[in-house]
Amino acid sequence: MKFADRAGLNVVKIFPGESKSAKTPNNRPIFEECLQFIRDGNADGILSWEPNRLARNLMDGGQIQHLLDLGILKDLKFPNTHFENTSTGKFMLSMLFSQAKFYVDDLSQNVRRGMNVKLNQGWAPFCAPVGYLNIRDFNGARIITDGERFPMVQRLWKLFLTGYYSVPQLLEEAHKMGLTIPVRRKSGGSLISRSGLFKMLGSEFYAGYFWFARKRYVGKHEPMITLKQFNEAQALLGRIDRPRMKQREFAYRGLMTCGECGFAVTAEETKKDNGKSCKSYIYYHCSHKRKEYECRQRSVEEKELDRQVQIILNGFSIGEREADACRKAAAELMAKESSFFEGVRRERQKKIERLQKSLDNLTRLRVEDRISDDEFERQRGILKNDLVEAERSASSRTPLTDNWFETIEKGLNLLKSLEKEIKCADSIKMAQLLKELGSNPRLTDKKLSINGKKHLLLISKKPKSSSWWNVVTAVRNILINRPPDAHSVKGG
Ligand SMILES: [Zn+2]
Repeated sequence: MKFADRAGLNVVKIFPGESKSAKTPNNRPIFEECLQFIRDGNADGILSWEPNRLARNLMDGGQIQHLLDLGILKDLKFPNTHFENTSTGKFMLSMLFSQAKFYVDDLSQNVRRGMNVKLNQGWAPFCAPVGYLNIRDFNGARIITDGERFPMVQRLWKLFLTGYYSVPQLLEEAHKMGLTIPVRRKSGGSLISRSGLFKMLGSEFYAGYFWFARKRYVGKHEPMITLKQFNEAQALLGRIDRPRMKQREFAYRGLMTCGECGFAVTAEETKKDNGKSCKSYIYYHCSHKRKEYECRQRSVEEKELDRQVQIILNGFSIGEREADACRKAAAELMAKESSFFEGVRRERQKKIERLQKSLDNLTRLRVEDRISDDEFERQRGILKNDLVEAERSASSRTPLTDNWFETIEKGLNLLKSLEKEIKCADSIKMAQLLKELGSNPRLTDKKLSINGKKHLLLISKKPKSSSWWNVVTAVRNILINRPPDAHSVKGG
């Protein structure tokens, strides 16, 4: 405006800045409106900040030049560039327009080049989905896991993959957890929406891949789920035709090994037609893949396995009251242990103070000339050594007391819920519980056995209330000395 005053221009109308890109022609309604305004004879000049603001594509530039040629447009004014409506001036203007176009082209080429580098490095060039964050540091732009949301989203995937959750139910879980969309420039901060959840469940990004410009890339970001799980989720969503329809999912397949030859136990479905109805049976049997050995193990029906798994699970089950007694004993032990370690820490501190005092005393003796130089050096050496030793042990970590307590708590929650879970569990759920309780399930002579986790076994023995203390102490010793060990348990 100041410029207009100075140049003595009569401003007829001000057109607001265009929000749309000047790169493509016919994409700028305000520019069109402005030209029409001039064609209609309402004005005979344009005042613009710079030529490249006026036209960044050749068609826009051409229109302006054409209006100048026709004499409808008499003059152009730019605060920073001089323009004269002469043949030289028009030639200069076309140069400026071309330059603007070159700038735009070059910019997009650079952006594209940068994008290709990023894509080939495995970094998705877009806003990361919930559970991940875009960061930019000296290593360039990357996508990292969102410490707060990653575990939440991962839990949602796990829940969904159990097949027990519909999307609305999953949404409810997400809201219970308080899963929000990260705050970005204009959006975010709100709880995840239903459509957001659908989008999430359909995004291969979580399995470590991403799509860009209709091409699939292997991402460098940390995957949250496996590709197999992603495909399972798509099947559950009904997005691809369900592989379950083609091939039945066998609950215990891939879980057990053959007790005789050690090879995998596989499953098979057979149909028996008795004339009236067609019934299907699932059998599990050794895959008989060992070449030099002929395994004699025979097959077991899934129903029979269900029964045996149920017995194993029941063996671990404890009641609410036992769980409480155990937790109470564990809490007492932890309190005792913490105060013990606190005592140890205090002792160590005292020792350091004592040694420092002795060193001071020694120095005083030397100053007062009551001991010889040699004696002083010798004593000081000993004390210094002790001090270094004491300081080292003081800074050493005391065993983490809450780790074992947490493991016991988790175990208790699992064991006390078993009874309820078994009642409504299908084979898949039972297989999952079995995995949580122990390892190495094997099938020998149609009998299933697993190595139960030792600490869970100890707890599931359910001692009298007075001896929970001993159980908890034993469990603690197992847990702090080595990872949960296993003992064999058999189904009936
Ligand atoms: Zn076998």
